[in-house]
Amino acid sequence: MQTEDGCERMPKKRKSGGRSKGSKGKGGLVQCSSCGRLVPADKVKKETKYVTLIDPTLARELRKEGTFIPRERVTKYYCVSCAVHRGRVKIRSKDERKNRSY
Ligand SMILES: [Zn+2]
Repeated sequence: MQTEDGCERMPKKRKSGGRSKGSKGKGGLVQCSSCGRLVPADKVKKETKYVTLIDPTLARELRKEGTFIPRERVTKYYCVSCAVHRGRVKIRSKDERKNRSY
């Protein structure tokens, strides 16, 4: 990649740099739920789950009876390494990375 003044610049792997912050400067940091690494909040992969504190088999029985079972929302943050390890995101080829539909 060449700039106007003829200087060489490092090529970019992703237009966004793997982040979603845009032209905003610095954002907050969050800790990865798996390894504890500090990750920028706009780069982290979020995973929201609804969990019950009751045993799933018992919960199914109770739901059949018509009991209201409270659910708790648990949001987990994963750094890119942990997200790849867990299959949350995949490593994509150069052409596939162009696809930003999701
Ligand atoms: Zn991690």
